Amino acid sequence: PIYLIQDRLVPKEEVRVSPDDRGYYFGDGIYEVFRVYGGKLFEAEAHFHRLERTAAAVRIDLPAASSELKKQLEQLIAANSLVEGTVYLQITRGAAPRNHMFPAQAEPVLMAYTTELKRPVHTMQQGISVVTMEDIRWLRCDLKTLNLLPNTLAKQYALDQGADDVVLHRSGLVTECSASNVMIVKEGAVITHPADNLILHGITRAVALRLARELGIPVAETPFTLDDLRQAEEAFVTGTTIEVTPVISVDGIPVASGSPGPVTRRLQQAFEQAISSCIPQ
Ligand code: PLP
Repeated sequence: PIYLIQDRLVPKEEVRVSPDDRGYYFGDGIYEVFRVYGGKLFEAEAHFHRLERTAAAVRIDLPAASSELKKQLEQLIAANSLVEGTVYLQITRGAAPRNHMFPAQAEPVLMAYTTELKRPVHTMQQGISVVTMEDIRWLRCDLKTLNLLPNTLAKQYALDQGADDVVLHRSGLVTECSASNVMIVKEGAVITHPADNLILHGITRAVALRLARELGIPVAETPFTLDDLRQAEEAFVTGTTIEVTPVISVDGIPVASGSPGPVTRRLQQAFEQAISSCIPQ
């Protein structure tokens, strides 16, 4: 595999990372995960917009403008002959002896690589089971930073219970999942937590809401409760790799009939159309 390090393409074996990188010491870095369909970046602009927003908020200077970074990622995709998969891009504040204060000298370190990944067709058909858990994360969950320990603990908690993922909540108000956003259907309307500081502003979330509006499905970006989730007509999650995936049970109890619902199916079809411009037929 070929990696992008700063602005250079290098074989993975030649990648060297400093033990002083602040990504290791402090999780002091930011990242993006892009979806690649048909060899092309999907929703690239939205991902770069979110990257710029996170970088500004945590005061890391991006090594190049988004337009330049996009070109470099396209070269990375080509170098790896990637057709269907993801691009992981991370930028840390750089290497410096361990000290909380920002280093005077350090230069941000960019690293990116590709992963081959097929669309999770089976999971999107069958749906997933979730368990609920208190959301114990900090109050800037809108920033896509490397500090993912709470998310990994939550994911493992779900797996240990025999479920696929968690639905996180703050005192009963549902926020999101460990690596996806969550939506319910109530009285025919799609409801999801507003894009504020308590959730990641998912790119797939935005696409799903846009498609719902285009289909004439009512949309409300408003907090909903665990009870709303348990009594939902339908529930589904959205994310770069899982696209639109039905939630069929919550804490072991089926959502409605326990099989994917019609609104979820319509959104899945619309999503498929949205990406079909990338995928060669
Ligand atoms: N919420 C969290 C915590 C995430 O980590 C992610 C993506 O990894 C999402 C939501 C979904 O965001 P996106 O649709 O941009 O992948």
